[in-house]
Amino acid sequence: MKSFNISIEHKCPQCGAPAVLEETDRLFACPFCRVKSFLPENGYLRYVLPFPDSARNPAVYFPYWRFKGTLFSSNPAETVYRFIDISHQGTESEIFPVSLGFRTQALKLKFALPETTGIFIKPELSPGDIVRIAEKRFSDKRAGGPVIQSFIGETTSIIYSPFYVKDKLWDAVLNRPVSAALPEDFDLNIFRAGKPDWTIDFIPAICPACGWDLAGERDSLVLLCKNCDSAWQPAGRKFGKINFGCIPESGEDFLFLPFWRIRAGISGIALDSYADLAKIANLPKVVQDGWKDISFKFWIPAFKVRAQHFIRLATHMTLAQPDDEIKGIVPAGTMHPVTIPVSEAIESFKIVMAGFIKPKKDYFPLLPDVRITPEDFTLVYVPFEEGHHDLIQAEYQMALNKALLATAGNL
Ligand SMILES: [Zn+2]
Ligand SMILES: [Zn+2]
Repeated sequence: MKSFNISIEHKCPQCGAPAVLEETDRLFACPFCRVKSFLPENGYLRYVLPFPDSARNPAVYFPYWRFKGTLFSSNPAETVYRFIDISHQGTESEIFPVSLGFRTQALKLKFALPETTGIFIKPELSPGDIVRIAEKRFSDKRAGGPVIQSFIGETTSIIYSPFYVKDKLWDAVLNRPVSAALPEDFDLNIFRAGKPDWTIDFIPAICPACGWDLAGERDSLVLLCKNCDSAWQPAGRKFGKINFGCIPESGEDFLFLPFWRIRAGISGIALDSYADLAKIANLPKVVQDGWKDISFKFWIPAFKVRAQHFIRLATHMTLAQPDDEIKGIVPAGTMHPVTIPVSEAIESFKIVMAGFIKPKKDYFPLLPDVRITPEDFTLVYVPFEEGHHDLIQAEYQMALNKALLATAGNL
């Protein structure tokens, strides 16, 4: 499935200069006033499609959920993945088009704001409903037996498309009718509607602890303070401090890739310690006494990369259980931005486990009922040496093609 990023016309929250944001942009550095602001997601963002001057002023905005993410399905034989990018009616209606089609690729969207005129039809379906619709449409049921499914790294947003009524229902974007003659008793008022009271609240990208400018890339979900060595992610309309650190590496030509190291309570299968891991992953090692005292942690990439590599890196690091000293400092080298939030990393736990449990016939049937409750997490930057084509982590014997990172932006 082809993927695309939406672009959004907006204004700098500080000086009002016009700006164009990409859908994945979070840290906005204004080229005019140079102020950096951060856009927290707080659930999902709401956009409107623009319409040409030739169209009538739209009477209504009809909601479409947009859903983009990778659906992972594991069965005892394999894990398959499918990238999904769909739009779907937010409210079931036979009059309005079923989906947005390709319109959002060609147009610059705007945020739906209180000053946007028109009636906004309320979505009756929830994001959860859309996930279930997508799962049903794309799930791979051929394998038979238990299947573990999870969406990872998804973006959910709502796009309002303008329409007006002139004998028929007219699509204001295309400025042409999209329905047959409307029934006599057609009444737009049957839909629940309201005025948008949503605001877009940027947060100044300033360290709450020491007042320095926070650092990050335009798509970073976590910002770093290089002055007081702290890491911040949005918590509502503020920044909240998170545990972070790096595996120190003083050499040059290193890129630090972020991983979420997550300790979790697991029931339904024994996986509390390194000794448990050695057993259920059937590691070719003789279990040593102390291993029972080493608590097990998931290591999940905190960055977007194609599905098979995401799972490969997560599995490799989780099996390795790195025990290096984690230093709570921002390293001097280059840092790759965090583009997968910890809440999404958690979604991958069972898919990662499905890949390493051995023998599968004993453990896989337990997986559907396993309960995993995240307890605490740390963002750990792991140094990878920059080779010609690959990034290489010598200690844990991992490599990642550089081109894969460069093309991950629209996943
Ligand atoms: Zn500005
Ligand atoms: Zn600071």
